Amino acid sequence: MPTTTLKLGDVEITRVIEFSDVSPMTTDVFFPGSEPEQWQRHAALLDPDHWDARTDLTRVATQSWVLRSEGGVIVIDTGAGNGKYRPLQPIWSYLDTDYLGNLAAAGVRPEDVDLVVNTHLHDDHVGWNTRLDGRDWVPTFPNATYLMPQTDVTYWHPDNLHRTRFGRGNQNVYEDSVQPVIDAGLVTTWEDSYVIDAHLRLEPAPGHTPGSSVVHLESEGDRAVFAGDLLHGAIQIHEPHLNSCFEEDEDAARASRARMFAYAADHNALVLPAHLPGHGAFEIRREGAGFGLSRWAPFSRTAAAGAPAAVRARRGGTA
Ligand SMILES: [Zn+2]
Repeated sequence: MPTTTLKLGDVEITRVIEFSDVSPMTTDVFFPGSEPEQWQRHAALLDPDHWDARTDLTRVATQSWVLRSEGGVIVIDTGAGNGKYRPLQPIWSYLDTDYLGNLAAAGVRPEDVDLVVNTHLHDDHVGWNTRLDGRDWVPTFPNATYLMPQTDVTYWHPDNLHRTRFGRGNQNVYEDSVQPVIDAGLVTTWEDSYVIDAHLRLEPAPGHTPGSSVVHLESEGDRAVFAGDLLHGAIQIHEPHLNSCFEEDEDAARASRARMFAYAADHNALVLPAHLPGHGAFEIRREGAGFGLSRWAPFSRTAAAGAPAAVRARRGGTA
């Protein structure tokens, strides 16, 4: 029976997929410095859900983790969104996915959402913060508080974009997916840490972006970490020193990943990143000086070859 939901302690976790497909990035582009033999060594783990060995193309998903906790509905990360122009990120440009339909299938209407957590303010984590209404970007979740790391709100402001490493990769993002929810009075920013409720708290995990953060779940002895972009691929379980090509601060990204992995291994915490296809989440154990997979989460695999229409993007517009 395909599973999209599991319960940890008193918190229900539902995986809502926006997009799952082959990415245009080969392994050496997505994970600079990674060697072909590293992928071959872990091929049984990676192929076909995370990597296509024949083409060397990586696979990537965008997904929200929807939590029901203490009567509230919480959405962690909001994907790339529909109809957004991303001149240097064509994979996320002018998407037309059925994300809201997938959310509805999980029993969530936009007006039901109480809290949105943006782990950081990259284009593929804030997209569904807003939707197009006529010519205006309006909040998708009109009754929600949107939690954003203050550090990223400052860092990704358009006035500072030229000083960032990702630069125009994040072009238009603040204007169409951040500013409209600020203007609507729905944004709460946080620094240091933020307690969401008795089971959930936000902690900084800088590196990928300066404001990158993770959500810790602790409930009835169960633990999980919603890891955002602390990792982008399953290869990093076995090769945790590998960074993606999207890190603002390489050393800090490695340090935050190492700290999160050590915590997860030592506390038997489920790790739920934003972009993992396949089963989407995993448990790890220490293995030598690094880590190894203990087991995948029980979520259904995203289809490896020919994902269902609901999770494939239909491209509109003329990007
Ligand atoms: Zn991302």
